[in-house]
Amino acid sequence: MNCTYESPVKRMKLRGYVTHQKMEGAKILVNPHQEDDDFNEVLLHEIAHAFWWGASEEKIEHFAAITSQILKKFGR
Ligand SMILES: [Zn+2]
Repeated sequence: MNCTYESPVKRMKLRGYVTHQKMEGAKILVNPHQEDDDFNEVLLHEIAHAFWWGASEEKIEHFAAITSQILKKFGR
């Protein structure tokens, strides 16, 4: 059997991806081929999903947008 693993970020052309923290091998993947500000927002978005699994997409997007703006304001 020949199995190859392709990241869902690459396969599905996603900006980011997170698995439930209770899954074996839980992970957050962020597509590195995006602008720094977008990368930070996507990373924060996926982290928020990991911490508040089941929260609405609207709340997650709001959290990521605001926190990434705060980081940008401080040059991070
Ligand atoms: Zn999301």
